[in-house]
Amino acid sequence: MYHAKVYSAASATSSLKSSTILRREPTEHDVQIDILFCGICHSDLHQVRNEWKSTMPTGYPCVPGHEIVGRVTRVGAAVKKFKSGDLAAVGCLVDSDRTCSECQAGLEQFCPNMTLTYNSPDKHLGGVTYGGYSDSIVVDERFVLRVPSHLNLAGVAPLLCAGITTYSPMRHWNVTKGKKVGVVGLGGLGHMGVKFARALEAHVVVFTTSSNKKEDALRLGANEVVVSRDAEAMQKCAGSFDFILDAVSADHDINPYLNLLGRDGNITLVGAPEHPLPVAAFGLIFRRRSLSGSPIGGIAETQGMLDFCGRHNITADVEVIPIQMVNEAYDRLLKSDVKYRFSIDMASLGHE
Ligand code: NAP
Ligand code: ZN
Repeated sequence: MYHAKVYSAASATSSLKSSTILRREPTEHDVQIDILFCGICHSDLHQVRNEWKSTMPTGYPCVPGHEIVGRVTRVGAAVKKFKSGDLAAVGCLVDSDRTCSECQAGLEQFCPNMTLTYNSPDKHLGGVTYGGYSDSIVVDERFVLRVPSHLNLAGVAPLLCAGITTYSPMRHWNVTKGKKVGVVGLGGLGHMGVKFARALEAHVVVFTTSSNKKEDALRLGANEVVVSRDAEAMQKCAGSFDFILDAVSADHDINPYLNLLGRDGNITLVGAPEHPLPVAAFGLIFRRRSLSGSPIGGIAETQGMLDFCGRHNITADVEVIPIQMVNEAYDRLLKSDVKYRFSIDMASLGHE
């Protein structure tokens, strides 16, 4: 084992602070990565503050971070995919049981025994896994992704969660040319949703509560922007959408969005607010609409998404910060004040 530098939270009410944790030495199939950038996902904030306690209680200390990009420094004897010096990335999953039907189908995100990058039981060392707000991480090569080398690395990091979480349901629900697609909430996930829907040649409409994000939404690729507090503008879109991605982090009313769907239209929740959301039955019954959810994506699809981003030159719009600003970044996330993802420059951890 070796000591890794991290930023961690000691409890649901404490801020993130510098400390160290133990990581395993790379075993046969492991890759050790020096982390260059780690994105800040709203899920990090939910979990640091134990907001998902009813489904996924947080174990402390909590080292968040599952949007990781870095460089390989050491590899185990049996590693084939990577060598020292390669770029590499890690998302929300670091292991699964590899034997269940979901794993066999390449859908590790549904494996009942998956290991999440942080706050999951650690099979190797006991305790919980520790994420990417750290100088390094050790992960089995099967869960490490290759990174297109021409992309900006600070903007690549958020692809590992915000990217795959929005790409996967759009592929599943067949977002293609000619489809009318809504994206609700222009945050880290939402802005990636806009980029993917546009790259898939759909007609993209952004729904935002922040009227000051209108111009950005158009620049990011939206064809139209609707300020969702404007009831008249919402009514004008009624019954016209094929697919809507809801990427809102806070409790909100989804019924006005159900009404925007056409026949057989689907709204997929990727946002995971703390409390249950009420649904009006007739909103679904009329026009045979459906409501579903979607978690991240499997390893093969995540690699496919990164390759797609390489071909289409897609990265996240990031505000690069030193790790010392992480608590301030969390406060800003809660105010929807991020354009559009914080990406931590992990070199700053060296100053601790
Ligand atoms: P984020 O950057 O904070 O963006 C959330 C956006 O939601 C905000 O920018 C804002 O957009 C909108 N919003 C915030 N508060 C609102 C309110 N009270 N009413 C209406 N809209 C509000 O968060 P994120 O990192 O994109 O994550 C979004 C959600 O997805 C979080 O709950 C996160 O945990 C979840 N998530 C799920 C998965 C998964 O696998 N399903 C993966 C990653 C993240 P506007 O300013 O445009 O209104
Ligand atoms: Zn995330």
